[in-house]
Amino acid sequence: MLPSLSRREFVSGAAVLVSTAGLRLPVWARAAASVPAADQVLLGVDYYPDQTPESLWEEDARRITDVGFTNVRIAEFAWALMEPSEGKFEFAWLHRAVKILSQNNIAVILGTPSAAPPPWLSAKYSDIFEVNAQGQRLYPGGRRFTCPSNATYRRLSLTIASEMARAFADSPGVVGWQIDNELTLGSSLRCYCNACQTGFQAWLRARYHDLETINRTWGTVFWSQTYTDFTQIPVPLPSGGDPNPGLALDYDRYQSYANVSFQGEQLEMLRKVCPRHFITTNNVGLLDTIDMRDLYRDLDFVAFDNYPGFFEMLLHQQSSAPVPPDAISAMSAMGHDFARGAKGGKPFMIMEEQSGKAGQRSFGPQPEKGQVRLWTYQAIAHGGMGVNYFRWDTATSGAEEYWHGMLNHDRSNSPAFGEMQQTVRELKALGPELLYSKYVAESALVFDYDCSWAVQIQPGHFSLSYMPQVQSWYGAISPSHSGIDIVGPLSDLSPYKIVFAPLAYVVSEAQAAKIRSFVQGGGVLVTGFRLGAKTDTSQMVRTPLPGLLRDVMGVTIEDYVPIYSAKQGVRFSAGLAGADASCGIWADILQPAGAEVLGAYTNGAHSGKAAVTANKFGKGKAIYIGADLDAASLARVLQSLSGSAGVRQPFNVPRGVELTVRSAGGKQWIFLLNHTSDAQTMGNSKNFTDLLTRESMTGKIHLGAYAVRILQEA
Ligand SMILES: [Zn+2]
Repeated sequence: MLPSLSRREFVSGAAVLVSTAGLRLPVWARAAASVPAADQVLLGVDYYPDQTPESLWEEDARRITDVGFTNVRIAEFAWALMEPSEGKFEFAWLHRAVKILSQNNIAVILGTPSAAPPPWLSAKYSDIFEVNAQGQRLYPGGRRFTCPSNATYRRLSLTIASEMARAFADSPGVVGWQIDNELTLGSSLRCYCNACQTGFQAWLRARYHDLETINRTWGTVFWSQTYTDFTQIPVPLPSGGDPNPGLALDYDRYQSYANVSFQGEQLEMLRKVCPRHFITTNNVGLLDTIDMRDLYRDLDFVAFDNYPGFFEMLLHQQSSAPVPPDAISAMSAMGHDFARGAKGGKPFMIMEEQSGKAGQRSFGPQPEKGQVRLWTYQAIAHGGMGVNYFRWDTATSGAEEYWHGMLNHDRSNSPAFGEMQQTVRELKALGPELLYSKYVAESALVFDYDCSWAVQIQPGHFSLSYMPQVQSWYGAISPSHSGIDIVGPLSDLSPYKIVFAPLAYVVSEAQAAKIRSFVQGGGVLVTGFRLGAKTDTSQMVRTPLPGLLRDVMGVTIEDYVPIYSAKQGVRFSAGLAGADASCGIWADILQPAGAEVLGAYTNGAHSGKAAVTANKFGKGKAIYIGADLDAASLARVLQSLSGSAGVRQPFNVPRGVELTVRSAGGKQWIFLLNHTSDAQTMGNSKNFTDLLTRESMTGKIHLGAYAVRILQEA
């Protein structure tokens, strides 16, 4: 264990570091200063005084303090208790809970409760319900059954949030806000109700100004869809044929906007009423219905929820094939990288970290000994600055009775309780310098919402989907341990040696210009099938593919082919020497126009035609992978390209071990995370000190099952 810093050293160090990280430290620090234990780091637990007898609150606060936690998040599902009938507000109980917590030196993050409106509201206002893509109305009884565009629901959500904000703006101990809860997560991903139709029409008017532009952009002459009044424009509900693809893409954009603006109303109010508090929201990673870059743009930092054991259960549910440990760890890692990337690399917080068996009707396995600590460190290793465990006590009623927390149903300590206590103490000792340091990445992976939505509208092959493609590319690159930033289509690419852009189906002129200058300047771009097939207004590109990037890629797409019964394969040339690959569901047939052929198709009419090419362009290189390569071949090819681009990991680690690097002020922290149940050994040529154990090591590094090391060069 590291010797603990004094509180004064801790806070003053944090002030500089958090400011460097771009967080709203001055306001947050002043608020947290009233809570000695807050210590400027957010290591806490999600707590439910609303679901716990008041006679237990003191005991809970004492036990939460004993763990070493600095904060709790509370009240995000307590609307019915805070507003038992319309306009009647009761915060006395919440004031008592906040007071007990702050008297025990626990800072409080308050959640606004709009994810679950109370029954009186649902009974009185029958137009607030979401309508799903089949046109069916949702019903109350669950959560997030409401429409993000509905004016009544927005007004009532803002009212309860405003009353809460006024009640707790000056409350000692309150340091921040979580707006709503998991906006991306509902049984229906988008709403198609009348309020959304009206909202969509208004959004289109603001975007396109006139109907002539809309008709031309969408090509509404097809199927006689020319609109002569904005009120005629439908939402993509079932109508006897597929919707216009341009309308459908704009509708997905509108739904993202509707959620962002729903949140924006509460954000604007909180900034005014609670200027000393930080404001965030929480989401589950890897869901693409709301553009996270828009959602977090004006928030102070990103908060995400992380449930690796729940992911594991879902993977088992989807397939009977064995689930390798690195598949689950890559899924979590990608969620963390996504969270960090949503605000351009700023340290993020895990608002809900799995602490026990997670799930509802079915739940995932009990975490193995060491796994909860490992998952916590994985978040920190990827740029996390704080972690709250979900949840303190396990609910004894309600839909989440089996979502296990730190206390069992009988309030005894859960199996992983000691691990969480140990982890919190370790992280406090490691201190804010590490927690607010920068994540080091030499590679970038482009994630583009437009591509995800446009591919969903017209996948070309019914099994083709954007998110699994991006996930498989991420899984293929991650063993290079180069650090991966997940960036947007218009992000600055210049910090990276290599940029991966799978299934970049929609390419705007602005993105093409960014890519062109990146490659020209010496960068390596790796992209693949369906590149640039559509404009950002959802029109087919009228020039030979890959459209705007044909000169950069040095190829012309001769044909694009979904693959069904006929088998296809790829044979590599010397530049990418290795076993033949199988080609899954898609093949772009490439005609080199200056590019070198690195792989060719092996079967059928396209046998011998180029499948993988590399083109020198300016000082850089652009690689086109036209075939949907099998997982092993994709991993081999992408890692080989990473190596050629000059990406280097500090030292080699075995499969199942993850390595990431954070840095600040000339210091580097190397994280080693063993996601397997076997002990692992790796060699290195430098002298390292493990900051967790204070061991110094040269030559060989041993890592026990699910173990973590944080190394610094001695
Ligand atoms: Zn709606």
